Amino acid sequence: MSFQGGRASSRACVPVSPTFTFPRDFVSVVLGCGIQGYTLMKWWVIVAFAMLFIPVFAEDTAPAATSTGDVSTAQAEPVMLPPPSDEAVRFYRTGNALWGFRTLWGLLVPAVIVFTGLSARMRTVAQRIGKQWFFVIAAYVVLFTLLTFLIDLPLSFYSDYVRMHDFGLSNQTFGKWVYDSIMQLGVVAFTAAMFLWVPYLLLRKSPKRWWLYTGLLMYPFFAFQLLVSPLWIDPLFNTFGPMKDKALEAKILAVADRAGIEGSRVFEVDKSIDTKAYNAYVTGMFNSKRIVLWDTTIKGLSEPQVLYVMAHEIGHFVLGHTYSGIAVFGTLYLIAFYFVHLSSGWILRRYGNRIGFNELSDIASYPLMILLISIALLVLQPFALAYNRHQEHEADRFGLELTQDNHAAASAFAKMYKDNLGYPNPHPIIKILRASHPPLGERVDFCNTYKPWADGSAMRYAGMFQPGPTLLEETKTPEGGNR
Ligand SMILES: [Zn+2]
Repeated sequence: MSFQGGRASSRACVPVSPTFTFPRDFVSVVLGCGIQGYTLMKWWVIVAFAMLFIPVFAEDTAPAATSTGDVSTAQAEPVMLPPPSDEAVRFYRTGNALWGFRTLWGLLVPAVIVFTGLSARMRTVAQRIGKQWFFVIAAYVVLFTLLTFLIDLPLSFYSDYVRMHDFGLSNQTFGKWVYDSIMQLGVVAFTAAMFLWVPYLLLRKSPKRWWLYTGLLMYPFFAFQLLVSPLWIDPLFNTFGPMKDKALEAKILAVADRAGIEGSRVFEVDKSIDTKAYNAYVTGMFNSKRIVLWDTTIKGLSEPQVLYVMAHEIGHFVLGHTYSGIAVFGTLYLIAFYFVHLSSGWILRRYGNRIGFNELSDIASYPLMILLISIALLVLQPFALAYNRHQEHEADRFGLELTQDNHAAASAFAKMYKDNLGYPNPHPIIKILRASHPPLGERVDFCNTYKPWADGSAMRYAGMFQPGPTLLEETKTPEGGNR
């Protein structure tokens, strides 16, 4: 639900590129028809790997930018994006290659751990440590998380620290990176140790239906995660509080109030200790639901631009995107678990002796589960991303209808494009495989042209907020310059 870059989630109304004709097996999985595990495995793996390598070779043929010239700042004119800088092009290309490599790495590591028999040996160690069933699972998962953390460490260090500093996008000290990494390790190991026994209990009790029960439990699990993350997890990494700029806060809360959002739901976070990029997001559930503005955004954008960013987030909040996100992700996992159920039997029969276990209910199967789930999610991801892009587009629309400030919206994206090393129009295949948000070129075009209020046409979300003075009249500073 973040304003720019970020995560995924699914929607079927965006057509899938003809490059990816999904095998019939995919339809079978969705419809629940019984099919051979091996056939299923084969097709999914072929599709997953084809998808993985395409970004590395996809040469960009799309027009480089919406227009030429510098970022336009004149109030009345449409905002034009200049072509991306050499550095932004390098960031985009190396980012695609890194995505391909990281995804492949994410499949390779669990595959090696399971097929070398290492997982079975780790389970034996965990049995010695844990003794009882629950503690054996907890001990195993802590060992596994620690091992994969160490294996992934060089890659994480390069992609999250070295690369971001090389491109001038990070403020993070080495100490903070180490702290964040260890904290993250602790959170993942603790969460897995607390909850992983559930699917393994279901695997023992109901070997035929475990995937359904586990899949259905993912919905409340995601909801729980969303509920507690802003309260218990996020504060481990950054400091959250009310906005520091009280004059701006008053204006922001006035916009929030028009959409029925209480002031206590708006937070500022000190992301400037980690990054130079701008962003904002909606998170939480029930009482913990909130809008979080990065302090970089507040400092780096002009007041009308910050208000537009806020209005976009209000769109996510009011349109309930966090809730539909849970529905979509839960369903993806349900399908992924069914894929594991259908394909794992064949692997266990064929490789049982080599891998050291014959039952999925053996905790040694954990990396095999991760491998199969990753393959399934890789194939399902384009649907989730298309759905996410749709939500982002609707939040853009909501923000425009609420503020009626096309220039602030388009120029906010132009500023992010320039300062976050954005790429205006990625290759369509890259968009399908990776983009959680619409490309910046498309967003700027939409922000320049969407103004149904100008000729009295109906606004899609007009009923969801109080009509008020538009922000354009309320808050405009000369030239929309930085405050
Ligand atoms: Zn957003």
